[in-house]
Amino acid sequence: RVAVVGAGVSGLTATKCCLDEGLEPTCFEQSQDIGGVWRYTEHIEAGRPSIYPSVISNTSKEMSAYSDFPYPEDFPVFLPNAQFLDYLRRYAERFGLREHIKLETTVVSIRKHADFATTGQWNVVTEAHGKQTSHVFDAVMVCSGSLSEPSLPLHCFPGIEKFRGQYFHSRQYKHPDLFQGKRVLVVGMGNSGVDIAVEASRVAAKVTISTSRGAWVLNRVFDYGYPWDMVFNTRLMNLIRNSLPGPLSRWLVNFKVNQRFNHENYGLQPEKSCLMREPVLNDDLPSYILTGRIIIKPGVKEFKDNSVVFHNCPEEEPIDIIVFCTGYDVSFPFLEESVVKMENKHASLYQYVFPTHLQKHTLAVIGLIKPLGSFMPVVEMQARWVTRVFKGLCQLPPQSVMEKEVNEKKSLVRWFGLSYDEVLKTDCLVYMDTLASFIGAKPSVLGLLCRDPWLALTIFFGPCSPYQYRLRGPKCWEGARQAILTQWDRVLKPTRTRVPAGSSSSFPSLLTVVGFLLLLAAVIFGF
Ligand code: NAP
Repeated sequence: RVAVVGAGVSGLTATKCCLDEGLEPTCFEQSQDIGGVWRYTEHIEAGRPSIYPSVISNTSKEMSAYSDFPYPEDFPVFLPNAQFLDYLRRYAERFGLREHIKLETTVVSIRKHADFATTGQWNVVTEAHGKQTSHVFDAVMVCSGSLSEPSLPLHCFPGIEKFRGQYFHSRQYKHPDLFQGKRVLVVGMGNSGVDIAVEASRVAAKVTISTSRGAWVLNRVFDYGYPWDMVFNTRLMNLIRNSLPGPLSRWLVNFKVNQRFNHENYGLQPEKSCLMREPVLNDDLPSYILTGRIIIKPGVKEFKDNSVVFHNCPEEEPIDIIVFCTGYDVSFPFLEESVVKMENKHASLYQYVFPTHLQKHTLAVIGLIKPLGSFMPVVEMQARWVTRVFKGLCQLPPQSVMEKEVNEKKSLVRWFGLSYDEVLKTDCLVYMDTLASFIGAKPSVLGLLCRDPWLALTIFFGPCSPYQYRLRGPKCWEGARQAILTQWDRVLKPTRTRVPAGSSSSFPSLLTVVGFLLLLAAVIFGF
């Protein structure tokens, strides 16, 4: 019997993976419905994520699918939140998840059972409609998300107590009307900050973004109009990025991200340009800067009654409204610190999932990760691995080995710099392959090359879509091959609406031809 905490993107797939493995999941969801962050409500509910109506997914539908459930082909390539939620609902229906989900039921506490050392069981207390109930579970999957608790570090902003205008955290933001005719300051240049600044600039008198670190800004619409992640996240590109010496690899990234516009000229160059923070996905920002609708400024030095002073800028800038887009904190109020402890937005978890020090590995945290790519296949892979561990079909290494790995990860600087939440981020392809190898689901490109060369080439040179991880291993899916070979068709279907389909896209085939030669070279050099 497995308790799953939360019925968002992670909790739904955790419930499904339990069913796949013949476990008995009970998923507790505190709100009225499934969907987590993707279920938009006009009213902001305590303890739940809150999005604005215009949120659109940052990763494309082919890269954001659960591995055995592609999106309908007529869905747009990047999904507005309502369609994302629709997909999650279809997933729940398709795999019969609803009957395992208890809505409006909050998990109040999770404690080790008295016999934990021998059974690994947990006492779970839940509360529904004011009534508490105790349960005993054999295992727990924590899928409570990381976007519910706004981080509003006012102490970092001297003079904020004197400011006479309005200020609020981005979690409170819904519609741009309140910015009408106002001078708006957006603090923080994550995805929320840029989305809100872009929307505000359509009605406000003036919009300024204050960023202390800067950021790379990528287009959803990438090379030749293809979705950024389908071009960026390929096995070939990954091999190149990870094989090149560090400086060369970073130079390549710098070169690529500056190709559309020079970030330095737009005031956006990340502080340590050779290191990468989570990129911002926004197609509008560069043109809005160019047309003066948005101004980029450095970090805030101090606030005054009706104005702000920025670092390295002597003059005050009058402002009426401040939106603090300063991100989120993560905590697990239902767990004891001795089980999972958050320090600097980081928990010491083996492979970002298992606490290393428990006598029995019957508790897992799913989704405490910010991959450079789509979140959904990553949490699904975590859940597939976890349920195999719970069943005893996969073993974890000894505690000392896990601890060593966790500590090494803390000091690892590869793609991302030492930003405040860098430890929550990872190169998703390498990470997915690692977990997949634990459960025997890692695709073998070389093995396929003899049996099914076209599929092998598509896997190596094409986007690393989630279906690759259903070709083999537990609960492999017979539709996986077809889903991989038709992924570009589903991308083109909603956009090629005037010229009839027929001639397929030149990009993948061109890439395949060029790539074939590179594959030969890779084989020769022993990849
Ligand atoms: P975030 O990515 O965590 O960014 C928060 C930003 O706040 C930081 O990058 C930093 O910006 C600033 N900040 C934090 N602490 C600060 C401090 N003490 N003083 C000054 N500035 C501080 O938060 P978010 O933008 O709300 O995004 C949260 C998650 O949701 C992210 O993973 C994001 O990708 C995701 N998201 C997705 C979408 C979408 O799919 N469309 C939309 C919105 C958000 P500077 O370094 O620039 O100063």
